[in-house]
Amino acid sequence: MSKPKFQLDDVKAHARGKWDMIFPQFAIAMPPKKRHAPCPACGGSDRFRYDDKKEMGDFYCNGCGAGDGFELISRCTHLSFPQVLEEVAAIVGLTADTKITDADRKRWKKEADMRERIRLEEEAKIQKNAARKAQSLWRSTHQGSECAYLERKKVPNFGCLINHEGDLIVPLFDENGEMWNLQYIKYDGEKTFLKGGRVKGCFHFIGTVELQDPVICIAEGYATAASIHLATGYPVAVAFNAGNLLPVGMAIQKNNPHARLIYCADDDSAKENTGLNCANEAVAVTGGIVLLPEFKQGAAA
Ligand SMILES: [Zn+2]
Repeated sequence: MSKPKFQLDDVKAHARGKWDMIFPQFAIAMPPKKRHAPCPACGGSDRFRYDDKKEMGDFYCNGCGAGDGFELISRCTHLSFPQVLEEVAAIVGLTADTKITDADRKRWKKEADMRERIRLEEEAKIQKNAARKAQSLWRSTHQGSECAYLERKKVPNFGCLINHEGDLIVPLFDENGEMWNLQYIKYDGEKTFLKGGRVKGCFHFIGTVELQDPVICIAEGYATAASIHLATGYPVAVAFNAGNLLPVGMAIQKNNPHARLIYCADDDSAKENTGLNCANEAVAVTGGIVLLPEFKQGAAA
């Protein structure tokens, strides 16, 4: 490898803020920013987060560690760091010396597709096992009566179980009514799902859909959803997290093509407005409207 004809700092300065354009040159498909997602380099299901914090393609991965865009390209393509640097220098117009060919890109794309296929198969297997576990736990859990979480939130139990520890157990179903997962909510609002259990596109439904001019609300958490149902009488689907608003909206729409959807986003303006952003994205796909709560504290925890 000959000595690079440019400085690292130079390449960095020219690459800053251009990673949306740079990554595709290496056949790397990045997930939306600030969402947990599979890692383009090492897979998984939600171990990866792309935040581009310093506009250097910055990411964090629980599997292969944090790094910047150069590092990610190196991990995905197995090019050495100097090679990556040289190629990025060419992409941002510092040199004309690119050695990447379309055949390389094709190969990387093929490798990425293969990784994704293996990941999906593995994920499906784990989710099926979790679904079996959820169904058997659901059948065998003896219904308790005291739930400090529900008392604190001042909402009733709509179709959930309460175990003897007083945890609220919220079931997750797909649009065909198949149970996939359980969410356990402790007194203090701490929430856990069954390990590896499917969440995407799954929901818990409160209330019944009207035949005439149906309206269906979609909210993030159980307590918020139950409060909305109490206040409005509308049926509400619990989507469990902001990133699931759209998949749940699409699932609901499959069964209720004429329903008007109301996305009730959590007001988490402190956390970069994830709820509102996800709700807006969902509306762009399924139609409907977004409502933000007026209360600042309470039902969200
Ligand atoms: Zn990784």
